[in-house]
Amino acid sequence: MTFSDLGLRDALLNKCESLDYSEPTPIQEQAIPVVLDGADLIGCAETGTGKTAAFLLPIIQRLAARNKPGVKVLIVAPTRELVMQIEQEYIKFANKKMRCVSIIGGASMNRQLNALRRGVNVIIATPGRLLDHVKRGTVNLATVDTLVLDEADRMLDMGFLPAIKEILSNVPSKRQTLLFSATISDSIKTLAYSMMDDPEVIEVSRQNRTARTVNQVAYPVATASKTALLLDLLETNNFEKVLVFTRTKRGADRIAHILTARELRANRIHSNLSQSQRERALKNFKIGKTRILVATDIASRGIDVDSVSHVINYDVPEAPEDYVHRVGRTGRAGNEGQAITLVTPNEELAMRGIERLTEQKVDRVVLPDFNGNGPMGLLNGSGKQNRSNGFKKKRSGRAFRSRRSRK
Ligand code: ADP
Ligand code: MG
Repeated sequence: MTFSDLGLRDALLNKCESLDYSEPTPIQEQAIPVVLDGADLIGCAETGTGKTAAFLLPIIQRLAARNKPGVKVLIVAPTRELVMQIEQEYIKFANKKMRCVSIIGGASMNRQLNALRRGVNVIIATPGRLLDHVKRGTVNLATVDTLVLDEADRMLDMGFLPAIKEILSNVPSKRQTLLFSATISDSIKTLAYSMMDDPEVIEVSRQNRTARTVNQVAYPVATASKTALLLDLLETNNFEKVLVFTRTKRGADRIAHILTARELRANRIHSNLSQSQRERALKNFKIGKTRILVATDIASRGIDVDSVSHVINYDVPEAPEDYVHRVGRTGRAGNEGQAITLVTPNEELAMRGIERLTEQKVDRVVLPDFNGNGPMGLLNGSGKQNRSNGFKKKRSGRAFRSRRSRK
């Protein structure tokens, strides 16, 4: 299957080729013809599967054909980073006449107002700042005919349901609506069916390229040894580009601080930082200036950094879906990735919930120095020489055997 089989025209096909999008991903294959047709759509596929282009390419093609003034397309996403990523992808594919503005908090209001005054066809926005503009009368959504809610599950998690409802009351009821989500819960379904007209549902099952290229392992660890184990992993292995996840912003600050004090090139990203701090953290991580980025779930969601070599879950996420998202940050675009999870006895239950959701057992590898059971350094006072070889060889007899279901 090629992009031209999906009904895209030459201008876009050329861009796909020059950007090395040689063939459509499964969600793109299924969604693009539906969106080109003008139908409503619910699209569900894991993070990193190309959902952005799945809606942007057909939207751009339809926009080029209409060539009318006014705001035609409204794309809403939960975080500033996601809005900026969508905007970057839009700029890659759209021609310059199809003007676009991103509307996000923490960024210059003047730039947004100037762009709006000049006239735009496409708005990509976070819900809060968009509604600020609507209330001030600086954005008029009355001409919108295509509405996209991206990462709808995360928007609900973040409490944006009232904001979404308010946005819906400001766009015409006759429109095309597209909803994308990495997971489909009951609340997503309720929202979707309340705002859509007989939507087509496209669900790309979980077994995709991303997941199969990630090697997953869990280390049972005593709560008091978590930080020591993290340091050991980062100091004895030459992991290239590491995302460390913590449950709280404070935890992210604390870990980043400790790592920096140990002269590891680390930084953190979470929603209490300013927009420019977050952008800088992300950029430095992308270009390799920072080796380790410590992140919370919300800040990391959908962040598109290629070539993350390792994801380390310092804390087991409470929501099993977050595990899927976190681990989806590595093993992208066919690269190999490693996901390491530190599991305290208190977190074991959450870890099992994750295994149930993913239908995949994760190997438990017991490191006697850190799990609170083994005598410290039983063998020549140090367990270190083992660990420096990477974790694959260290399966102890008691370790959980892998029973990965290959569906
Ligand atoms: P999602 O929204 O599903 O998390 P993205 O749209 O952010 O995924 O895409 C993930 C990455 O894959 C991006 O870097 C994007 O440029 C790239 N990508 C998307 N579609 C293709 C394709 N057909 N071929 C190659 N790369 C692609
Ligand atoms: Mg996305």
